[in-house]
Parts: sequence; structure tokens; C-alpha cells
Amino acid sequence: MKAISVLGSTGSIGTQTLEIAEEFPDQFKVVALTAGRNLDLLCDQIKRHKPEIVALAHSSGMQQLKERLNGLQLENQLINIPKLVCGPEGLNEAAAWGKADLVVTGIVGCAGLLPTLAAIKAGKDIALANKETLIAAGPVVLPELEKSGSRLLPADSEHSAIFQCLQGTPWADNARLSTGVPTPGFKSIQLTASGGAFRDWSIEDLKKATVHDATSHPNWSMGKKITVDSATLMNKGLEVIEAHYLFGLDYDHIEIVIHPQSIIHSMIELSDSSVLAQMGWPDMKLPILYAMSWPNRIETPWKRLNLPEINNLTFKKPDKTKYPCMQLAYSAGKYGGTMPAALNAANEEAVAIFLEEQIHFLEIPSLIELTCEKHKENFKQEPNLEDIIYVDLWARKICREFAKKQSRKLFS
Ligand code: NAD
Ligand code: MG
Repeated sequence: MKAISVLGSTGSIGTQTLEIAEEFPDQFKVVALTAGRNLDLLCDQIKRHKPEIVALAHSSGMQQLKERLNGLQLENQLINIPKLVCGPEGLNEAAAWGKADLVVTGIVGCAGLLPTLAAIKAGKDIALANKETLIAAGPVVLPELEKSGSRLLPADSEHSAIFQCLQGTPWADNARLSTGVPTPGFKSIQLTASGGAFRDWSIEDLKKATVHDATSHPNWSMGKKITVDSATLMNKGLEVIEAHYLFGLDYDHIEIVIHPQSIIHSMIELSDSSVLAQMGWPDMKLPILYAMSWPNRIETPWKRLNLPEINNLTFKKPDKTKYPCMQLAYSAGKYGGTMPAALNAANEEAVAIFLEEQIHFLEIPSLIELTCEKHKENFKQEPNLEDIIYVDLWARKICREFAKKQSRKLFS
């Protein structure tokens, strides 16, 4: 029985994690939850999973949460009220909760950084969904893992696929292969991408893309931010940086392949030219479950993969002109230091501004590019945590300033 904490329990990753815990009650017990603003869903989760501690991201919802839980107790729907905490300190306390063996990080964006670090410092194993944390703060997160001995188990489907393929190699014992140290025999990674919402659109059509168009994914059902990232292919660019930090390959050996059916979740190439791939239906529960159960496999009643039913698996090279975000991510990754933090923050902000309908879809990459270019003036090669946090806030501000100038031009 593994005790788990779920950070971002009300989101797409969080709810799927809790569904897994509910489906396999002999394997997993939920001890801590953290959430943003969805109190209805959070109260329901508290009733079902009876965690020991619950953290709210913002103090404003605390009074209401207490009243609702008291009400549930009076109605005999809840026996014990969990410890309730809030704000950054509260999130850290829940993330580092003593009883937990594994922390599933389902918070979206760089907001997940400090709780993830708190969990790592407490020696917890991490099922990493919150990629932005590693992308922004790889140079800070990796040494903390060495110090505490906590392991980073990828829950992102592509990185889970790579991780699963690596189980059949001589480096199987390493949950994470060390960054910057070339591993003989491990030649390259091919990250597969569905192509996102606009894979069949022309650049001309993209100029007219609406928020509704960009938040409708053909294969995966996910939170809004990552769905827009999939439409710009920034998600794949971010995953290139995530793969670099997780598996230690240099950027020239991490490639992107468009695979519209999302059946092959990624591939690795070995020194003898063999390529290993991991396959499955496009369902996030599989990579989440593997991160939760590693190194074991759990028997599931889930739908078996049926290749004749799919009939056709196709692949093509990504279109760099249509999707400039990919190249921006490669450049930021190669630049290293604080540049991925600036890229990530500018992307989070540009996507938020797009969702507010203040800019057009095609302005997202230009805002990120302008912010990264400006960041060369205050860039740091070997950042500490304070530098990363500073750059994250700085890049958001600069991105908003560029957006204001741009939207004045666009909408005047
Ligand atoms: P989501 O928007 O559905 O859920 C986000 C969760 O984080 C919610 O519980 C929300 O309350 C919480 N949250 C939001 N802002 C917060 C803040 N400032 N402080 C604390 N909590 C906050 O997002 P998602 O799609 O579940 O994605 C979560 C993470 O997992 C992202 O980093 C994403 O890139 C990654 N991921 C998601 C999927 C997927 O299928 N959804 C796949 C791979 C990776
Ligand atoms: Mg992914």
C-alpha cells in the first residue's frame, strides 16, 4: 500500500489520479490533497478519500471550506475533518506530509515549483506531471534530488514511455539518468506529438483561431493551458527540455515526430540502431498509474490495445514554420541557465493573455520570442532558486508589457 499526496487534485491530472486510487484501494491510500478554487469538487474528494491534510492555494476560500466540512460532519457524511492549511506555506506542508510515500504533482505551471521542492527535500518520490517546474528550475531541482535521494518518476505520457523503454536497458536501476553525462549506448529520443488542435489547419486559418478552437484537443482531454500548449506545439518544445533534464541527453539527440494517432507515446534509439517504443491508447491514466506503481505493474481491466482496430500508424516531420514555439524551446534549452525559466514564464503569461482574448493565437510565439531576447540582458548561467523565482516574475511582467504594445497595434 502506497500513501500518496495529490497536488492539484481538482485538475485533469489530479482527478485521474484519484480515480486510480479509488479503482485500486488495496494499492493506494490518499493522505494529502491540494487545490485551487474548486471547493465543490474538493469537498467531494475529501468525503471520498478522507485525507489527513488539505491545502488550499488561496486563503480566501478557507472559511467557506471549513463551514462546508463542518456541515458534512453534522450530516454524518464525514467523520474526521482533515487538517486544513492554505497559501504557499500550506501547500508546502501538504506536499511534504510525513505519511506520504509518493507525491503526484498535478499543479499547473511554475506555481508547482515550491511545493515540488518541499516534497523533494522531504525525500518523497515524485510522480511528475507538472513539467513547468523541471523546465523552469532544472538546475535547482536536480541537485536537490541528489541530496535527498528522492526519485523523479515521469507521469507525462512521452517521458513515461521513454522511462518504460529504458527499463529494458542496462541503466534500468536509475529512475533518472544524470544530466550532462553521456550514457554510452543511449543514442537518441524521439518524442511523439499528436499535432494538437490545429494539425490540419493552414497558417492562413491559424490567424483566425479562437480560444474555443485552441482548447479543443483531438486526442487528449486535459486542462486549458496544456491544451493551448499542444495547439502551439510549445507543449512538445517544453517536453524536449523536460526530457533533457530527466534523461540527460543533449538537445541534438532529442527529436520530435508527428504521430496523429497518439498510440506510440515515444521512442528511444540504442547504439545498435534498435528503436524501442511504448504503445497504448491515448489515456493519461496509464502513465500516471505507472509512475504510481513503479517498479511494479498493476493488473487493470482497462481496454486492451488493438492494432488492427487502429489500422494505420502514421508519422511525419513537424512543420517548423507553422509552429515556431518548438524552435524557441530548443533555443532556450540550449542556452540553458535561466533561459528555460524565462521561456516557460513568458509562455504561461502569453497563453493566459490569449485565453483572456487580448491577443491573437499567432501572437503567442512572438511574445515569447521578444521576452527571451530581452532576457539575454539579465540572464544567469548558474542560477539558484531566488534567481529562478526572480526571472519567472520578471518574464511575466515583461511579456505583459510587450502584449500591451502589441494588442494596441492589433486592435486599434
Ligand atoms: P488543470 O488546469 O486541469 O489543473 C490544475 C490544478 O492545479 C488544479 O487542481 C488547480 O486548482 C491547481 N492550481 C492552479 N493554479 C494553482 C496555483 N497557483 N497554486 C496551486 N494550485 C493551483 O491542469 P492539468 O491539465 O491537470 O495539468 C497539470 C500539470 O500536468 C501541468 O503541468 C501539465 O503540463 C501536466 N500534464 C497534464 C496532462 C493532462 O493530460 N492534463 C498531461 C501531461 C502533463
Ligand atoms: Mg505529454
